Amino acid sequence: MNTYKVARISGPGKVEIEEWEIPVLRDDEVLVKVLACAICTSDQGVFRGERESSYPVYAGHEISAVVQEVGPAVVSGVKPGDHVAVSRINRCEQCTNCRKYTDNRCLNSRKLHRPGRPAGPGGFAELMAVPGYQVFKFPQEIDRITASLTEPVACCISSVDKANVQPGDDVLVVGAGVMGLIHVNLLSLKGARVLVSEVASERRRLAKDFGADVVLDPAGGPLAEQVGQVTGGKGVEAIFVTGGPPDLVSDLMGTCATGATMVIYTSYHGEKGSKAEVDLNRIHYNEIKLVGTISPRKYDFQRAVALVANGKIRVSQLVERVFPFSRIQEAFEYAIRPGSYRVVVHME
Ligand SMILES: [Zn+2]
Ligand SMILES: [Zn+2]
Repeated sequence: MNTYKVARISGPGKVEIEEWEIPVLRDDEVLVKVLACAICTSDQGVFRGERESSYPVYAGHEISAVVQEVGPAVVSGVKPGDHVAVSRINRCEQCTNCRKYTDNRCLNSRKLHRPGRPAGPGGFAELMAVPGYQVFKFPQEIDRITASLTEPVACCISSVDKANVQPGDDVLVVGAGVMGLIHVNLLSLKGARVLVSEVASERRRLAKDFGADVVLDPAGGPLAEQVGQVTGGKGVEAIFVTGGPPDLVSDLMGTCATGATMVIYTSYHGEKGSKAEVDLNRIHYNEIKLVGTISPRKYDFQRAVALVANGKIRVSQLVERVFPFSRIQEAFEYAIRPGSYRVVVHME
């Protein structure tokens, strides 16, 4: 039988592997054999049952793969045997968002789902048939686990772009989990002085490895005071919120320099909700910008491939454990332990 295995989150706490028929490739598609797929924080949220979603969910969007077959209308020049990272965002290239350099939020994304394919990114699978524009070629010598972390790097590039950070700026990264550490690495490459606020001492130490100049323990007093001390009362030009409770944002307003940008990278789920009080006069009088960021644009993904391929970003250090596909249930259970870094599923 011509089938391949796909994993789905079938309900809170449960991942199942099922068999799908191998798809007939469309002219504009590439058939890839998945090499590895990392378990993102959002996948973990679905597994925990914390995000409102209707099950089953075909999760998995941090993907490295090898090309098997290329449709005749694919113009990118990829060939069977090429290693690629896959960006699973559907883009129509025709809506206003796609035409406005905000193609991460294509308005037709859902409509572009192709029948006969798992609904969702579907990276926890042996095979995937994806539109040709979604594959980005990778040098063969980069290992599959490292390459699977291209997508989170792309998300963080998109985030860092939002704040227009300049060399010599002071910036604050809140939280030193996977996303926080990638931010630290990128901001340090930009020539900023990077401050990191993190409760766990082990994570503060790791932040130093990733290029943090100053690490702050929020338990050591109000962050506004600690940041003020480091910056001579000026505050930071940019803040990246990658974790913490929603009301932390109110306190973080006190760390802003005049004209600062605060980027809300994280999303908020659970009983604390997503509401915070902010002082609008502080925003008004100090010309502070409060912005959000979600998923990467194609250009972010392209730059992420370059950074990972050139070894400019230390993603392999973020991998805590690798599980074979047959043990994906265990991989998810391991990934949701508090404080864990990236868990990656690799295909046998
Ligand atoms: Zn992700
Ligand atoms: Zn579009």
